[in-house]
Amino acid sequence: MIGELSRSTVFYRWPAAQNRLAKSRYPDFARRLPVFPLSVRRKGPGDVACNDASRPSPSSVLAAPPRPLDGHGHGVSWRWLPFLLLSISVVLGCGQESVEPDMLDAEDAQSARLEALWSFYAQLQEDAWQFGYSQGDWTEDYGDAPFYGLGFYIRAGRAYDRDDYLSVAEEARVYNLDLVEQALASLSWYTDHFEEVVMAALGLCEYADATEDPGPFLDRLDQLIDNTNDLLTLFSDYLDVELGDYAIATYGPTTISAAAALLNLQYAYTIDNQRSQQRIERAAAIVRSIDENALDGQRYLFRPGDQKLYLYPNTMMMLVLCRLYELTDNRTYLEVAQGIFQAIQPLKDPQHGYYRSPYSAQTMGAQTEDYSTLSSQNYLAMALLVLYQDTGDAAYLSEAISVLDVIRRTFYDLEQGRLLHHVMDGRIALPTDPEYFCSGCNLQTLYILWYLKEEVLADPPAGS
Ligand SMILES: [Zn+2]
Repeated sequence: MIGELSRSTVFYRWPAAQNRLAKSRYPDFARRLPVFPLSVRRKGPGDVACNDASRPSPSSVLAAPPRPLDGHGHGVSWRWLPFLLLSISVVLGCGQESVEPDMLDAEDAQSARLEALWSFYAQLQEDAWQFGYSQGDWTEDYGDAPFYGLGFYIRAGRAYDRDDYLSVAEEARVYNLDLVEQALASLSWYTDHFEEVVMAALGLCEYADATEDPGPFLDRLDQLIDNTNDLLTLFSDYLDVELGDYAIATYGPTTISAAAALLNLQYAYTIDNQRSQQRIERAAAIVRSIDENALDGQRYLFRPGDQKLYLYPNTMMMLVLCRLYELTDNRTYLEVAQGIFQAIQPLKDPQHGYYRSPYSAQTMGAQTEDYSTLSSQNYLAMALLVLYQDTGDAAYLSEAISVLDVIRRTFYDLEQGRLLHHVMDGRIALPTDPEYFCSGCNLQTLYILWYLKEEVLADPPAGS
């Protein structure tokens, strides 16, 4: 369905795109386009977010037994004991609310959740050393580690004075820059690896902000963003085309277009130079196009014509609109972001506390609407934290902490020491599911916990 729609869109816009490409910095790519413009290396049914069937799962992962949502299994080794004791002091039972709202007032409940989150934060940092990794490349991720791996290790390395973290960050910086340079050398390579390259560029923005020195790679980052914007221009700033390994098909054109806007905004947010204003204006133009294509009342559509309510495009737009508000002082953006939060409430699962995220439910074989993913909860938590910073409204902070608490309680596999990819039909991800584990999403959770602790709570917004 998506493929058909995308192809017709591509061909409809094709002649104009071809002319513009022929004049662009990618004439070689323009020549390739008539064969199959912006074609995707399609994979099988498992061709979904955070998934790459060609990547082998660790044997220990494959051997892990299925585990119901309401238990963390057994055979817990002694090394978990401190974490277990800390958890028990707060958690009244696995799979239940970590604090009973009836027993604690809201403030105490939040304090208890935070206390458990800080233990979890420490534990997940230890767990992360076991993730597949080679010279700046997290080998068990699905394209997102270049952002959150570099982001977390450069931030935490400096905040906590950790030389081991800083050397990981240096390796990741080199790896990310290599991805960007490959994308600059070939647009077809870029479009085949769109998500990973955008994530690498976002990671470099993090690095530039943390070190206050984008100098070593600023020229290439600028060129990458310019090329990304040129690509957007070809499609009237709404990427309803097939692109990347799985980016568009999985996340949808609204989310991917929003990611391009976010790249412009994160540049302006983290690197203050003469290009910043231009980047902000470019992001505003992309948002206008997304609005024209996909704004439906208070919510954003996955793509035009698809009326189902999705979490991904909405959380991405919350982030984009909040950043745009911060950089322009135009409150309309903030109000739309707040409206989105209202619009996604029907996705909240009253039993488990997570927000359902149906984007890959079908591919993963979910039999019910009870489906959610780690990355979607991460993006939601991040968007809520930024909403709190922008509004000072403690309700957003409380909901962000609640979502992170749900991640800790629901997606974490204590035996393996890692957050798994999704939950569905009342159980956590199984090794036999098309997706099972993404180290990038685990690093994203680490990044968000760092953000909560060191940015949000350390420097609360005025009026909160
Ligand atoms: Zn991931």
